[in-house]
Amino acid sequence: MRARAIYDAVPLYDPKRTPVDIDLTDNTNLWGMPPHAREAWRAQVERGITRYPSLYASELKETLAARLGHGITPSMVVTGCGSDDLLDSAMRAFAAPDDVVAASLPSFAMIPIFAQMNGLRYTAVPERAPTGEDADGAVVDVPALLAQDAQILYLSAPNNPTGRPLARATLRAFLDGSRGLVILDEAYAEFAGEHALALVHEYPQLLIVRTMSKAWGLAGLRVGYAIAQPDVALAVEKSRGPYKVNAVAERVATVAVRDDAEWVTTHIDLAIANRERLAAELRSLSLSPLPSAANFVCVPMANVERVSAALRRRGVAARPFAALPHVGDALRISVGPWPMVQALLDALPSAIHDAQEEGTNVR
Ligand SMILES: *Cc1c(COP(=O)(O)O)cnc(C)c1O
Repeated sequence: MRARAIYDAVPLYDPKRTPVDIDLTDNTNLWGMPPHAREAWRAQVERGITRYPSLYASELKETLAARLGHGITPSMVVTGCGSDDLLDSAMRAFAAPDDVVAASLPSFAMIPIFAQMNGLRYTAVPERAPTGEDADGAVVDVPALLAQDAQILYLSAPNNPTGRPLARATLRAFLDGSRGLVILDEAYAEFAGEHALALVHEYPQLLIVRTMSKAWGLAGLRVGYAIAQPDVALAVEKSRGPYKVNAVAERVATVAVRDDAEWVTTHIDLAIANRERLAAELRSLSLSPLPSAANFVCVPMANVERVSAALRRRGVAARPFAALPHVGDALRISVGPWPMVQALLDALPSAIHDAQEEGTNVR
């Protein structure tokens, strides 16, 4: 049997995440899951799972809308099996096969895969060279991206893997200039202290995507949500389909949003403090980490594949990225409890040394 021809080119996702003692590769909440969520998870075992969940997670949508504020109503919220599900569903809802999805490079590794899965054409526009003033995210090449005349524009703020925030003026330039849907991925907005929720009232083409996988500590549960004007949210919901948030996930996520905000805020603050401490430690090793508004630090580094392999041999994993525009090879390090970060810092100098030696031997 032959699948659709375009599927020949669709890869299976493989971030090469083999088990390791200390895993700083995926930006999840390394402090664990929030306490009320854990209780709800246990209680759900008693309730059982013989019946179907709600069709479109209405209780979760109501709870999210109440927590988000900024005039967001339940009809402006759509949930999914992770925010990945929402990115995929939004592409299906707003672009037809052969339409263009454009994203700034670098950005989230799943975007080209979802574009391919939906038969869309993916175009990446490299960031422009940063000048001294550009720490705020002005490096996104707005004119070049708008020139793609894309049906869907994808932006991530803060960006993954760089950690850079997106300047509000840059976001507005996109929204003012785009004829298509603008997907703003706010997977790390909780760590940035800024978000664009208020703009959904102003811009009918804006879809903000959020996740319970990072600050909220529930990656294994697979819950994400998106916020947009009601007709956009409805289209994404139709594309997503019924029953995509399972009964356990809906229950646990609802309780977390309702009761765990304080725990989450406390751990966001810890992550930010450790992020800044990690950046300072990296600078004292003569490295130059990029400024980050997320729960990870991206640090340019030669031979990064070899460095990450050498780190793994020492029981620590961080994610290597090759040849990022204007950054070069870089290591993305998730921030967690300080002893985990310290383990990375302890292993890093000798891992860099090993990587250099190997490089010399090869030549
Ligand atoms: C981790 C991540 C996601 C995926 O989140 P899920 O809700 O777990 O699917 C989406 N976007 C970005 C930029 C991420 O880093």
